[in-house]
Amino acid sequence: MEVRFWNKEIETLDRPALEQLQLKRLRETVGYALQTHFYKNRLAKTGITSPEDIKTLADLKKIPYTTKDDMRESYPRGLLAVSSDEVVRIHTSSGTTGLPTVIYYTREDLDNWTENLARCIIATGAGRADVFQNMMSYGMFTGGLGLHYGAEKVGMTVIPIGGGNTKRQIQLMKDFGTTVLHITPSYLLHIHDKLAEVEVKLSDLALKRAFIGAEPHSENTRKKIEDLFHIDAYNSYGLSEMNGPGVAFECEYKNGMHTWEDGYIMEIIDPKTGAVLSEEMEGEIVFTNLIRRATPLLRYRTRDLGYIIKGACPCGRTHRRLSRITGRTDDMLIVNGVNVFPSQIEEVIMRIPQVGTNYQIHLEKDGALDKLIIKVEIYSKLFHGEMSELDNLKRKIKEDLRASIIINPQVELHEPGSLPVFEGKAKRVVDNRPKF
Ligand code: ADP
Ligand code: ZN
Repeated sequence: MEVRFWNKEIETLDRPALEQLQLKRLRETVGYALQTHFYKNRLAKTGITSPEDIKTLADLKKIPYTTKDDMRESYPRGLLAVSSDEVVRIHTSSGTTGLPTVIYYTREDLDNWTENLARCIIATGAGRADVFQNMMSYGMFTGGLGLHYGAEKVGMTVIPIGGGNTKRQIQLMKDFGTTVLHITPSYLLHIHDKLAEVEVKLSDLALKRAFIGAEPHSENTRKKIEDLFHIDAYNSYGLSEMNGPGVAFECEYKNGMHTWEDGYIMEIIDPKTGAVLSEEMEGEIVFTNLIRRATPLLRYRTRDLGYIIKGACPCGRTHRRLSRITGRTDDMLIVNGVNVFPSQIEEVIMRIPQVGTNYQIHLEKDGALDKLIIKVEIYSKLFHGEMSELDNLKRKIKEDLRASIIINPQVELHEPGSLPVFEGKAKRVVDNRPKF
């Protein structure tokens, strides 16, 4: 495989040089942070009052973690480190789990972010010859604009349609010969269902790749997408607190996401004790943003779970790889005392070939007990077929789930297109249990 780079020098920097660069940028970032009301107070307690107090990268450990609540409490300007005339853009998080958090960017901050996205795009093998249809929503959500500028920077032909309007999406793909999509995996699966409905065949399209992200998904979902569309799908990870997409992205080897370590210091911690874990141990991902002056964030607890993949990637990039996101510390379900992540459920059902493109997880109270109901869409032919086949399939899904999550769920089979569709991040879990 011929490997192409956007910025070969930085992308293949050896470890000592990369760490030297991290240290330089960490010092600068601490300097910016000290301009904010929030960090001035917080760092004073640790004895860090100037960038010179950071002597080595190990000094990072002296800095307390920053949480989503810290950011919410600092809303709207407590974490702004520059004067307002230097700010050129504001983004907020999607607010999946509560009040949104706000991020400010200077012109240079945006350029740094865009540079990282250019590296990501080239790492997948895409480039200036591609037609890029950006189906992530534009606006306050960072997914749309983030990739937009990255794609323009590498010279792709950008179709800035944003999310939704599935028929039009398909029409544009066909008319302009779209080769690369940026989209949530759940919406991409929905698009596949729609193709038949609008009588567009895969051979009418020129699709080659999809950048899929913004929501958790399993390896089996990726495989399903790749098989249904005959394309390569690359996992794209980011969060608005770390600029947005472009924090970590898969290269052509599709074996973990290279995290741009000249821009972000990545740590994995035990979410309960806060202890830093070693490579290959799963825990909460913590990032320090080294490339944003307007809102410097130190040791930000993402609530996302994953681990650092050990060893070198055959592509030659030295920036370490992050595993697939296995869940969020705040999306864990407790069902009759047993902990379950929605991603575990998805992993099981998406492996079963008869299962279609959409599913939902429902939780109800049944007397004193919790009831877990998994609603799965199946392919049309099967749905209208033999009753005994349906029963067998139901039993198989149930047994596979029980083996994996130790809970005995109720399984419902649904007709294609009957479960709710989301054009952005999918909401898979409906928890109807009373809250105390
Ligand atoms: P919110 O936290 O409100 O959803 P963002 O819009 O910034 O805010 O979304 C970032 C979050 O989306 C991440 O913290 C992560 O939970 C999720 N996410 C983004 N990309 C991926 C991905 N490739 N795999 C799994 N989850 C992802
Ligand atoms: Zn690689």
